[in-house]
Amino acid sequence: MRESIGEARQKAGKREAAVLLVLTLVTLFVIFGTWHVNKIKANEAMGKQHKEEIKKKPYSQKTPASLSSHPKTANESKKPKEKTATAANAGTEIQIAKKTTAHISTATQSQKETNNIQEKNETSVKKLKTPKRIKIENKETKKAAMAPAVHKSETKQKQIDPSERKTVYLTFDDGPSHVSGGILDILNQFQAKATFFMLEPNILRFPEAVKRMDQEGQALGLHGVSHDPKKFYRTKETVVQEMDQDNLALQKITGKKSVLIRTPYGSAPYMKPAYQDAVREHGYQLWDWTIDSKDWSFRSPQYVEYSIVQIKNMEHRKEPVVILLHERKETLESLPKLLEYLMKNRYQFKRIEPAMKPVTFHVS
Ligand SMILES: [Zn+2]
Repeated sequence: MRESIGEARQKAGKREAAVLLVLTLVTLFVIFGTWHVNKIKANEAMGKQHKEEIKKKPYSQKTPASLSSHPKTANESKKPKEKTATAANAGTEIQIAKKTTAHISTATQSQKETNNIQEKNETSVKKLKTPKRIKIENKETKKAAMAPAVHKSETKQKQIDPSERKTVYLTFDDGPSHVSGGILDILNQFQAKATFFMLEPNILRFPEAVKRMDQEGQALGLHGVSHDPKKFYRTKETVVQEMDQDNLALQKITGKKSVLIRTPYGSAPYMKPAYQDAVREHGYQLWDWTIDSKDWSFRSPQYVEYSIVQIKNMEHRKEPVVILLHERKETLESLPKLLEYLMKNRYQFKRIEPAMKPVTFHVS
């Protein structure tokens, strides 16, 4: 009996222990379960709150949408300016968002997530900018691809017979003068040759300029004595006489005579067929021009643009490009501009030669 009582007590003790253990386990499970459920709920609440916050923010709504909705579309690649503007807007919005986040952030996790979104945004902005960069690189690649071609053409140009290149004949009337030296300096800078149609009184007044022209290989031509149409064109004899007198002055200074002549204001309308025959009989070659720079009229840099328009118009014509210029201060000042244009457009500057067929206006 004792034994049975002891056994019974022992059994009861075990049962109590088992119940206690179960109870403890259940309690622990309930506590953990409640804590876990609460935690999930809390997380969900935070997530929801955060989503709402995001919705309120303009950048999070616009930017990722605008970034993802049309990246790399044909339309966008056609509008780089618009794209840059969007990127700039996105940048500004992100900055605003950063400021806003500082105020809003109640939960640290929320901030972390916002930061993540910002990072994503920045990445998106980078992505957005990328096509632009690629474009530039493409341009450069294109340039690089073109470079050898340009180089080739340049090499080709050097190899081409000089007679196949475009030629321009610059002609300066009414000199020599106090600007002759400046004109010669510029011609030398461009390794250019030109032709000077000079007046007898000026040849005698600026003999050193004439000598320099001659020494530097410029062509020397005649322009008469009076430069007065009434005197010059009075008869065919007066025309020849003025040219002869001019030629004597040139010979006096340089020891050379010239056959190249240009009559004052050009051959039209004064140089009638009889006048033209007369000068030809005396061994002169009458030269007019194909491009009037009107430098004498503009007296400003405008003559350069005016000339360039005419040069462009003449590119597909067979006549030689003979430009009429004058020894004037304003002409000298803008001369480099004109020569730069001609140089870039592969013109070579040559002087008029007696062997050439003269350009003459048609006089009826
Ligand atoms: Zn003149």
